[in-house]
Amino acid sequence: MPVLDSFSLTGKVTVVTGAARGIGAALAVAVAEAGSDVALLVRDAAAAEPVREQVAALGVRAGVYTADVTDRAGLEDVRDAITAELGVPDVLVNNAGTCIHRAAFEVSDEEWDTVVDTNLTGLWRTSQVFGRAMADRTDGRRGGSIVNIGSISSIIVNRPQWQPGYNASKAAVHQLTKSLAVEWAPLGIRVNALAPGYVRTAMAPVDDPAFKPRWIDDAPMQRAAEPEELGPTVVWMASDASSFMTGSVVVVDGGYTAV
Ligand code: NDP
Repeated sequence: MPVLDSFSLTGKVTVVTGAARGIGAALAVAVAEAGSDVALLVRDAAAAEPVREQVAALGVRAGVYTADVTDRAGLEDVRDAITAELGVPDVLVNNAGTCIHRAAFEVSDEEWDTVVDTNLTGLWRTSQVFGRAMADRTDGRRGGSIVNIGSISSIIVNRPQWQPGYNASKAAVHQLTKSLAVEWAPLGIRVNALAPGYVRTAMAPVDDPAFKPRWIDDAPMQRAAEPEELGPTVVWMASDASSFMTGSVVVVDGGYTAV
């Protein structure tokens, strides 16, 4: 296959969680630009409508599906609806995530549970639900590709905006990625993680004077990423262009963890 053709997602179905805004919205558009039909898995359907319109304008099928990654029954319902309406998903982008900024002594059990149940257990739950469909598919295709959005917070400790639960959950996502990759390789399901550095979204106030000195001024490239800059890497990780890659964590951080 010619090298650029291997990046194509034409004819495939991609599920993106947390696709109504931020990185998830940019990734939904990126996989659509690569030719994939897209299922936007969101908590608020109305909020996702502008993204759905942007994706549909690219000439692929685009659907909005409402589910919370902390709700297994809701995820199973949505998986079945996507399979019936678009086909068995070929790609799952586990992007949904949350962060509670609190110093360690001040984090409540409830706050800890929210972060871990979304970032780690939610990603696990979503992978298990959609991985089942990839493993059991009878449409002549085999397996699929799962891209987990991790973070450099698994490698470094973000400061001075403390987030112990977030850091721990993202580190666990990277090890869960490897665990599922090894177990599901015989099923043809590849599982990889992307670890972004600072990206300009609601989650990361990169221009806040309290954080800019450490997050931006200390960074080799002296800037944060725009969400759209992650798109090409995720298309590569989702597509046949990375056909021999599984269990890998790809760091895209402008050199932040290199120094
Ligand atoms: P945003 O806060 O802008 O977006 C987070 C998304 O996750 C929202 O769409 C949100 O939905 C969704 N979400 C949160 N909780 C749930 C849930 N329980 N069920 C379903 N969806 C949920 O942040 P980003 O776009 O920056 O973050 C996207 C991913 O990238 C996250 O996993 C984050 O940890 C990761 N990341 C971000 C970095 C950054 O610097 N921004 C750096 C490294 C990683 P809703 O719109 O309904 O709130």
